[in-house]
Amino acid sequence: MKLLVTGGAGFVGSHSVNALLQAGHDVTILDNLSTGHRWALQGCELIPIDLRDTYHLNRKLKGRGFEGVLHFAAKSLVGESKNQPAMYYQNNVGGTTNLVRAMQAADIQKLVFSSTAAIFGNPISDLIDEEHPKAPINVYGQTKLVVEQMLQAVTQSSNFSATCLRYFNAAGANNTANLGEWHEPETHLIPNALRAAAGTGNPLTLFGDDYPTVDGTCVRDYVHVDDLASAHVAAIEQMDKRGAFGTYNLGNGNGYSVKDVIAACEKAVGTEIPHTIGPRREGDPATLVASAQKAHNELGWSPKHEGIDEIAQSAWNWECYRRDSLA
Ligand code: UDP
Repeated sequence: MKLLVTGGAGFVGSHSVNALLQAGHDVTILDNLSTGHRWALQGCELIPIDLRDTYHLNRKLKGRGFEGVLHFAAKSLVGESKNQPAMYYQNNVGGTTNLVRAMQAADIQKLVFSSTAAIFGNPISDLIDEEHPKAPINVYGQTKLVVEQMLQAVTQSSNFSATCLRYFNAAGANNTANLGEWHEPETHLIPNALRAAAGTGNPLTLFGDDYPTVDGTCVRDYVHVDDLASAHVAAIEQMDKRGAFGTYNLGNGNGYSVKDVIAACEKAVGTEIPHTIGPRREGDPATLVASAQKAHNELGWSPKHEGIDEIAQSAWNWECYRRDSLA
């Protein structure tokens, strides 16, 4: 298919572009490169515009023959969203509204949307399935939930189809394609732990050890970014087979505490990771673990990389490559 990928120069976006190219699709990337990287473009054409720029967005989508859009471009940091809520709504809600209207004007009817486990807030069950109540406890999650609701309404009033993929904690890297995670500043646990181990980052602070979990630290479902990528390929390829609107939770169904993750990173690096205990980070639920049964049943999706050790090892391989070849 001829596809447009917004945010294709970012972390999950670039791995999905890789998977789409491997599956034989023709990919164009739209990215303002605010957090994405030129080295991640993988030879694809780049449309270097911002989704808030409706004039150029409409012009760039018209007449190109795109058959579908995968939409990764977004602001995605919980802490930042608390401090800059209007900026988050403008980028994530406004940007997606602009995209949908430009798609409609260009007669493009298929969208795969990057959503998040943050839409659920504090879980009321051990495993979170698609029907779990949605009550985000941070602005980032609110913006993603509003977009899901907007997309559902659009699919009910037109020929538009949308699939929302709710990522749990995207992690790991594709060492074959030399792709991986690189944020400035880095806020995520695994890269921060690896950089602390290598002495190239700040010392690691563990955000709270008084949560009601097995060891007091937050529990998350870390899903390999290549597994997220394969779900996107399935979602866009199979969109005709399903109803106009669908939501899928993507995770391994295994919860790992922050301490478990640090231990896995220590194993990958082969050294202890010094860390201190700090206060809780606002907006962090104690536990987030997916039930991905629906994605399994309907998309035929199952993660291939389930263990935290494998995920940490691939992230470490990437970190070494990034430091030696790109930084
Ligand atoms: N975390 C931490 N120290 C860090 C970064 C993250 O203790 O330097 C914790 C964070 O509070 C959360 C978990 O690690 O419980 C995963 O956070 P991350 O930012 O990687 O992903 P998020 O869950 O926000 O999507």
